[in-house]
Amino acid sequence: MNELVQDLAPAGRRRPPLQTLGDWMRRQRSAIQALQWTVVVFYLALLIWPALLPLPREYAHFYENLVLFAQFVFWGLWWPFVILSMLLLGRVWCGVFCPEGALSEWASRHGRGGAIPRWMRWGGWPFTAFVLTTVYGQLISVYEYPRAALLILGGSTIVAMAVGFFYGRGKRVWCRHLCPVNGVFSLLARLAPVHFRVDAAAWRRAPRRTPAVDCAPLVNISGMTGASACHMCGRCSGHRNAVTLSARSPNREILSLGDNAASRWDALLLTVGLLGVATGAFQWSASPWFVQLKQGLAEWLIERDIYWPLGDGAPWWLLTHYPETNDVFTWLDGGVILLYIGATTLVIGGALLLALRLAGRLLGQRTMPWRLAYGLTPLAGISLFLGLSALTLSLLKAERLDLSWAPGLRAALLAVAVLWTGRLLWGLLGAGGNGAVFRRRALAWLCLMAAAGLVVGSWVAMFYYW
Ligand code: SF4
Repeated sequence: MNELVQDLAPAGRRRPPLQTLGDWMRRQRSAIQALQWTVVVFYLALLIWPALLPLPREYAHFYENLVLFAQFVFWGLWWPFVILSMLLLGRVWCGVFCPEGALSEWASRHGRGGAIPRWMRWGGWPFTAFVLTTVYGQLISVYEYPRAALLILGGSTIVAMAVGFFYGRGKRVWCRHLCPVNGVFSLLARLAPVHFRVDAAAWRRAPRRTPAVDCAPLVNISGMTGASACHMCGRCSGHRNAVTLSARSPNREILSLGDNAASRWDALLLTVGLLGVATGAFQWSASPWFVQLKQGLAEWLIERDIYWPLGDGAPWWLLTHYPETNDVFTWLDGGVILLYIGATTLVIGGALLLALRLAGRLLGQRTMPWRLAYGLTPLAGISLFLGLSALTLSLLKAERLDLSWAPGLRAALLAVAVLWTGRLLWGLLGAGGNGAVFRRRALAWLCLMAAAGLVVGSWVAMFYYW
């Protein structure tokens, strides 16, 4: 493809650094592949090896015990900072580092090359896969135990490779359609201040016959207008003199979203999945309401001589079961976890959907204004980062590090989430208007912000009161 790529800057003018970086990524494909295989080796070692070792004694440090080290790397560093990287850099993680994507693409290069079946193209997979994985992970304590991590992450990697083997020719069909975090990443990447920009006029001006770019996640590059589907691998940089790595306003992609481009599944993933299910999943273990609910139900069962829910005979792959560390879930524990996450989802997700409906009515729309939900993306991203980094901080606390800065940082992140979400929602509600229109917009904005306030309130309760 190199012969099709020319210096986009007129002679004598320096190319912008980002454009140079994008083109450099295109030229460094072998180096990127080498990096991906290094990550694969590291990932598999940290996933499989700790699962074969005994659980650590209580007073072990993460830097002297492989089980704790893997826990720290996977859940303390990897996940929170991958989420942060989506907001700052787009999906560079997917295109340059992700071991599962690399393995799926590799399997696809050596597989059967089948057509993508219709069921796989169902738009609800990102929502469904995220919710199921999140809830299941809580039931088997995926953040704490290496066997649980091996089951969920390793199982997902095997399925990713199988999908790669059967479908697509050297493509990432898994990443595009089934990966449980694809939907989350595609939402958060919309806020990234960098993206591969496609100049439609330059694309049309280029010679008609140019070999197609080997875009692994199957992006329609000529029609690409945002960063949500792009894995930022750099392979198309400079293609037809039209694709350049560029800076942009983090608000631009969401504010320019048309009604037709808004997806109901994206909106449900934001409101019900990320702000409902995930919030409940992050908070149940710290909640005094969870303990009260469990105790109340246990007493109620005992008074009626119903004892089987208090049994703890479930296998570890169904409910947490580690007698050696006195960590064993009863059926009641499992049921109350589901109940707590379900109730959180109902309250927060329900309030957000209701607020969307009200906002739509205030704007005179009969249908659900799914587009407005995208304004909640900063809150969802920062909420996810706060939830995942809570584990990072508890691991660092166990090492007796000074964390006196953490409450201030959390408050600052929550403030950014509120301000950024408020700004996006205001923009999405539409500018201008006379007095009555303005009042309706303001009321719609207040409805949405009040519902978003439930999420902020839940984090404030967890970080500062519980
Ligand atoms: S559009 Fe495809 S080829 Fe281009 S950077 Fe994104 S993922 Fe890579």
